[in-house]
Amino acid sequence: MLAILMLSLNLLVPVMSERWIDATHVDFAQEERLLSSSQQLLSALTDGETGQRGFVITGRDDFLSPLYLGFAEVDRLQLELGRLAKGDTEFMQLLERMRPVIAEQRTFLQGTIDVRRQEGIDAAVARVATGKGKQLMDRLRAISSEQQAILKARLLVLEQRGEWQQQVMVIGLAVIGVLDLLLIGLLFYFTFRTLKEGRESRESLQRLSDQLSSGMQRLEMRNREISLLSRMAGALHSINQFDECYGIIGRFAGQLFPHNAGSLTLYHPSRDILESVAHWGAWPVELDLFEPHSCWAIRRGQSHQVGDPGKDLLCPHLEGSVLAEHGYICVPLMAQGEPLGVLTLSGDHAADLELAEAFAEQVSLGVSNLSLRESLRQQSLVDALTGLHNRRFLDETLRRELLRASRKQSPVAVVLLDVDHFKRFNDTFGHEAGDLVLRHLATEMKRNVRTSDLACRYGGEEFCLVMPEISREDAVERCESLRLAVSRQQVRYGGQPLGPINISLGLAWFPQDGEQMDALLHAADLALYQAKRSGRNRLCVYRREMDGAAEEAPSS
Ligand code: GH3
Ligand code: MG
Ligand code: MG
Repeated sequence: MLAILMLSLNLLVPVMSERWIDATHVDFAQEERLLSSSQQLLSALTDGETGQRGFVITGRDDFLSPLYLGFAEVDRLQLELGRLAKGDTEFMQLLERMRPVIAEQRTFLQGTIDVRRQEGIDAAVARVATGKGKQLMDRLRAISSEQQAILKARLLVLEQRGEWQQQVMVIGLAVIGVLDLLLIGLLFYFTFRTLKEGRESRESLQRLSDQLSSGMQRLEMRNREISLLSRMAGALHSINQFDECYGIIGRFAGQLFPHNAGSLTLYHPSRDILESVAHWGAWPVELDLFEPHSCWAIRRGQSHQVGDPGKDLLCPHLEGSVLAEHGYICVPLMAQGEPLGVLTLSGDHAADLELAEAFAEQVSLGVSNLSLRESLRQQSLVDALTGLHNRRFLDETLRRELLRASRKQSPVAVVLLDVDHFKRFNDTFGHEAGDLVLRHLATEMKRNVRTSDLACRYGGEEFCLVMPEISREDAVERCESLRLAVSRQQVRYGGQPLGPINISLGLAWFPQDGEQMDALLHAADLALYQAKRSGRNRLCVYRREMDGAAEEAPSS
């Protein structure tokens, strides 16, 4: 808008002032013409008087020609002045005042010429000497000089006006020039500002776009980390072996913390030491074992981050190690408020504490779930009263054991044991005394079997012993020594001796007495039945003829 206004002023001011000054020039030229015509009129009148005087003195007609020429010129000039001064009342009044005097003077001059012609020089001189002609000429001169004074005054005013107009125009143009410069300055200022703002907004856009793309990268990284964490959680959920679990944790940790060497350290079951179960990167093996109080994360139950090993508090288990030189993080693994172990990450790149904590949480969950599942599994396979494996475990294991034995073509001895007259302990001393007897028997079984053997509670007061890769003689001897060991022990309940505890045993042999588990157990059961029938407190080895005997006498 300002630029349009200034452009209009640039065009209008010179044009308008030109017109304005031109009008003054026109007025000036008009007044000048009036002045010049007025002067010519006086001069023509003077010429007329001079011609009359020459004729009076000489009487020659040729002296009259200036007079008549002057008369004609006076007429023309009067007409011209009348035309030029049209509308100029002041000048017209003076012209009107002049008119009768001119007519009178012309009549007087003509009269003097006539007198000279008719009455001679003396009469004419006498007429001139009256001074009338001079009076008239003086009046005309006075009016003419009045005219010229007015015109000169006007010309002066016009001249001053012209000068003033010139000055105004110069000042106006100068002001416009200054305004033009200001406008150009403003335009430059706004142009530069716009360019600068444009550059700044481009830069800020670039910054925003950089931030956005780095945010996207962070987001992608977070997504990848979340997906890795959830994949790890899924994997940990679906495994049953601790070794497998630690392997998975190590593999995922390597992917989640590619720039950080690290280790996962868990409490030993004794709870007095922590040992590394998985490590990744360049983790030194000598750091695999340490005591719980040598880690600040375990002691304080919260993450311990060391950025500057020179200033921050170092965990004693990492002191002096190369890993601690670049800083590290220890994150405690907690399960239901109890520490399970610690995750340690070290390396040139500072590990993301938030990610480390999320990882530690998933690992804690995975490890504690596995421990829980393992303990539930153990519970489901172990008999609570005796601590021996139960029949479910026997079913699983014996089947596997028989398969292995059949592959290796090795024998397996299966023994069923039953406490003789057990009911009496219950009836005489109470149910708890009966339980004590069962526990006693279990202890003796554990004591008398090899680590490769399997001792189970089969149900009630019956037990089962599986002895793989054993000779017939050794099996019989082991059963006998067990029977004797059980009966020799004096068991007391409430200070009262319970009396001798005897057991009967039935032994069956794989693969001769049965190739399938059920057949084998059935054979052992028949042998046991035979032992009961034969007077109890003894071992009977299965024989084929026992099959019929059991049907003849089904109960003892
Ligand atoms: P036999 O010499 O013929 O084997 O006679 P027994 O009395 O030992 O056999 P019986 O089958 O008549 O009795 C077994 C008893 O064991 C019956 C049951 O009440 C008792 N019993 C089963 N399980 C338990 C247990 O867990 N604790 C106790 N105290 N008694 C049990
Ligand atoms: Mg029984
Ligand atoms: Mg019994």
